[in-house]
Amino acid sequence: MNTTWAWRSREPAKNPPDPNYPYGIALDVSLGAAAVCDVVLDYPAPGVGTWIITCEVCGYTAAVTAAGRADDPTKVRLPCKPREPADG
Ligand SMILES: [Zn+2]
Repeated sequence: MNTTWAWRSREPAKNPPDPNYPYGIALDVSLGAAAVCDVVLDYPAPGVGTWIITCEVCGYTAAVTAAGRADDPTKVRLPCKPREPADG
């Protein structure tokens, strides 16, 4: 998996972190897919922006927002979907 950070703002996040997630959030966007990839993110994030996560195997791309706070995502579980044949 290829992880890229995209800045949205160089200013610190204005809102306080969600107190329900003092140690970050483990996201799961796989929706129960048979094959998944787990990606560990830098935690906390560098600041306010978006993690762009791309699977080199199937090309699946996910965007995960972060704010450089305690409630940032720590890892993400993504579906891995090998491409179907074009005539399928
Ligand atoms: Zn994949």
